[in-house]
Amino acid sequence: MDQDIMEAVVQEARDLGMRVAHHVGVEETDARHDAAYGVTSIEHWYGVPDAALRGSQNFPYGYNYNDESDRFRYAGRLWREADPKKLQKVLSDMVANKVSWCPTFVIYEANRDLQRAKNQPWFTDYLHPVLEEYFVPSPANHGSYHWNWTTTDEVFWRENYQIWMKAVRAFADMGGVVGCGEDAGYIYMMYGFSLIRELELHHEAGFHPIDVIMHATGNNARILGLEDRLGRIRRGWLADVILVEGNPLKNLKVLYPTGTLDLIDGEVVQTGGVRWTIKDGFVYDAKALRQDVKDLVSAARAAAKK
Ligand SMILES: [Zn+2]
Repeated sequence: MDQDIMEAVVQEARDLGMRVAHHVGVEETDARHDAAYGVTSIEHWYGVPDAALRGSQNFPYGYNYNDESDRFRYAGRLWREADPKKLQKVLSDMVANKVSWCPTFVIYEANRDLQRAKNQPWFTDYLHPVLEEYFVPSPANHGSYHWNWTTTDEVFWRENYQIWMKAVRAFADMGGVVGCGEDAGYIYMMYGFSLIRELELHHEAGFHPIDVIMHATGNNARILGLEDRLGRIRRGWLADVILVEGNPLKNLKVLYPTGTLDLIDGEVVQTGGVRWTIKDGFVYDAKALRQDVKDLVSAARAAAKK
């Protein structure tokens, strides 16, 4: 986005009492502008290391942002080029100007481990054929860019994650508000499952599970401006609650809709999972909802075969 346009948009939003989430790209504005104009939150991570570069990123001469394999390949080499001192300043400016950060680690996980992303166990029963087809690499589908993904790309992305996670941790240590979201529907990520993987990645970034839960509840409510009625269990607040079979502080995996394995009385059993979902005080049978999704997917698959 152009700097003047961004300033005008943020000002207009402020006049209307609205919040601004900036989905930053490789563009003219970065996290420094988000801090200067008082944007509410940064989605993903573009814009943060960009603001700490010495000059421009070291793109090859043939780089084409509109070729998504190029775009995401070289995004994986961005964090290593951020100057650590400059980065600290960018992060502290974000904190000082109350810019929250919703890193969505999970949406890029295919970049560091493509096989993992393509073979998630829930695809067997829950991946709708339309989404399955969308995930097949094709320049026509946003996010389906792994047609020539290399081992080297994965190696760079693993390092990219290390530096990125450290930056998110440092941002939180300075008092920054970290939120939790997943951007599902793209890059092998599915609603209902990817958010739980996102929680695991926040844990990997160095946060205690209780802080990870805080990112997804209290902090998200704060980012949305709903911290006076959502994100904690309080009398008179919105009753948005999940009841889980198991303790997510012991193992975040119990939050996966399909749960996880455990050894109980000498038997290996499938355990965990959300049992009840309460939204605005209405109670939903989460197991029945899950079965509905499974049935819908198998019916769609059967129809697709005809
Ligand atoms: Zn996005």
